[in-house]
Amino acid sequence: MFKILLATKNKHKVREISDILKSRATVVSAFEELNIYDDIKEIGKTFEENACIKALYISKFADDYVIADDSGLEVYALGGRPGVFSARFAGENATDEENNKKLLKELENIDDRKARYVCAIALAKKGKIIEVFTGELKGEIGVNPKGDNGFGYDPIFVLKNGKTAAEISPEEKNKISHRAKALKKMEKYFRDWGDRL
Ligand code: IMP
Repeated sequence: MFKILLATKNKHKVREISDILKSRATVVSAFEELNIYDDIKEIGKTFEENACIKALYISKFADDYVIADDSGLEVYALGGRPGVFSARFAGENATDEENNKKLLKELENIDDRKARYVCAIALAKKGKIIEVFTGELKGEIGVNPKGDNGFGYDPIFVLKNGKTAAEISPEEKNKISHRAKALKKMEKYFRDWGDRL
């Protein structure tokens, strides 16, 4: 059993990742463990780059494994936007509603509504990236927001079954999400290499 420091202030993510890795590792918040409250700037052009920037930053302060994630929405007709700007699509402190509204406006006269959520998780140790795991969830951008669950773009992200990601339960979403898929790849990596890493 080893310890993994997770570079996130989001307790929900610490919980989700601990649950998946619980038989192999103890997952703790890197910020709480190390008392670091720096605001790490996500200046990368891709999700992978941002996940690596965060993991490497924390990795300077500890010898344990460090993981960091970055995620967002890519819309095909918009050339992959909002991408790494998903959280601030409508401006620096934009709310989810404002981001959704801007996206629906940009897609007003566009028929191709294909989109995907992407998640990248970087694993680092002693200042070096060991591996980056990615996951995606494909869908389409709807016309009107629907559902009260989830967060971010979920009310306008329509799944294969015709429901939005905000109309399914958190348990259902955790089974199919981009984050869950990247985490499963990481879990497999630890299963295959855990003792030798
Ligand atoms: P972060 O990875 O927590 O920084 O998320 C970046 C942004 O991407 C969020 O603020 C959301 O706008 C969007 N996003 C990432 N994952 C999801 C998801 O599962 N549902 C809805 N929006 C998401």
